[in-house]
Amino acid sequence: MSFPDASSSFWNAISPPAPKLERLQRDMQADCVVVGAGFTGLNAAWHLMRRGLQVCVLEAHEPGWGASGRNGGMAVLRYKYGWSALARKFGNEATLLLYKLVQEAVNGIESNVQELGIDGGFKRCGHITAAHTSADFQALRDDIDWLAATAGDRVPRLLSRSEAAEAIGTSVYRGGYLDSRAGGVNPLGYARELASALSARGLAMFSSTPVVKVESGEGRYRVHTEGGSVTARHLVIATNAYTGMRDLPGGLARRIIPVTSSVIATRPVPEDVYSSILPGGELVTDTRHLVNYFRRIPGNRILFGGRGSLSGLEKDEIYAGLFKQLCATFPALDSVSVEFRWSGRVAVTLDDFPHVGSWASDGYFAMGYGGRGVALTHVLGRALADMVVGAKADMGPMGKPLNDVPLHAWRLPAMNVVASYYRLRDLLSI
Ligand SMILES: Cc1cc2nc3c(=O)[nH]c(=O)nc-3n(C[C@H](O)[C@H](O)[C@H](O)COP(=O)(O)OP(=O)(O)OC[C@H]3O[C@@H](n4cnc5c(N)ncnc54)[C@H](O)[C@@H]3O)c2cc1C
Repeated sequence: MSFPDASSSFWNAISPPAPKLERLQRDMQADCVVVGAGFTGLNAAWHLMRRGLQVCVLEAHEPGWGASGRNGGMAVLRYKYGWSALARKFGNEATLLLYKLVQEAVNGIESNVQELGIDGGFKRCGHITAAHTSADFQALRDDIDWLAATAGDRVPRLLSRSEAAEAIGTSVYRGGYLDSRAGGVNPLGYARELASALSARGLAMFSSTPVVKVESGEGRYRVHTEGGSVTARHLVIATNAYTGMRDLPGGLARRIIPVTSSVIATRPVPEDVYSSILPGGELVTDTRHLVNYFRRIPGNRILFGGRGSLSGLEKDEIYAGLFKQLCATFPALDSVSVEFRWSGRVAVTLDDFPHVGSWASDGYFAMGYGGRGVALTHVLGRALADMVVGAKADMGPMGKPLNDVPLHAWRLPAMNVVASYYRLRDLLSI
């Protein structure tokens, strides 16, 4: 399996440098070891530090190297399924809990920014869920009705077809759902600033330090790296879609399906065209089965992302396909070239929820965010810290066990079939 980096990303071009951290080159002790310095690991570490634990974070590359530093930077207030579908499946009470948790998730970014004095490009710029079909539009209307009637929340607004066309700058969508509280970040900048701030507050964190083996016994984990080890009572695995990179315990890699998401960012777009695309600065995710997401980014550029290659290998045709979709959405961008392109891995679960839990006594994980981890990592990271100290964290469906994906070894051919099926359904708008 190949794991390309994202040094060619737009975020890498505009972010502050990664904090200067050492490789682990000794044996040490801590209360808790966290493997992975993405948003999950960093948030878990921060919440554990606040609870007075000695934490050690081990990162194979550098903070934000994984999906956390490569994503679209969209901190959205929705799950994969809308509120009314969730209420039908889980009932109002569980759906209200999910609603509360996703609000806390976006608030979590804001409070990190405020408490730790970082910037991360965070702004509550709003997010539009753009309806690909009229059935999708009706589902968004149902969500607005559910929120008003059950959660008493009248902030999200339904956009008619013409309102969506004006807000987004394209007439390809049937309408939309606008939540003005959603936030945008520069994800790599935020990850690096968060890591620097925690390191300055005394967090022991090591870069270029892959965990290669874990031993357990006598109520302790001994976590080995090439240069040294950490012994601790608690172990948190926060490696999400990169879990399969090394042989970590708990069989966690078999519980998720890693899927590649790819992104392009244009060269600066001429002002007369740029002014018509997302003039209000909102972020957009559409309701296609193979989702497209896009936004404005600094320097009059447009970021556009979607499904990447199934093998995870970098392929020109994937980026050419994204550019085609960008131009189908905004024909005026036809003459604007792409300056940045990169890919990363998201972890998909069978129920489309991320999960937080334990895989052994004092061994915990959180993973499986799909394309929705920017905000949710903040509440699952907090839940990890709660679990480590023995506090209860009611996470609803996200706290349910995460089981192995059946026939995991056959996931690539299966995904090929599923992707072709969804591509066809998207084309036919069904
Ligand atoms: C292209 C793309 C676009 C996306 N867009 C959005 C979006 O707009 N909005 C949204 O909500 N979500 C989005 N996502 C999803 C979101 O980025 C992820 O859900 C989230 O960042 C997961 O964070 P994490 O900390 O759990 O994992 P990651 O950030 O992937 O971090 C895992 C870390 O574990 C480390 N690691 C792995 N194995 C080891 C080991 N053996 N030893 C030490 N370290 C190890 C890796 O190096 C990595 O740094 C997107 C994802 C991608 C790839």
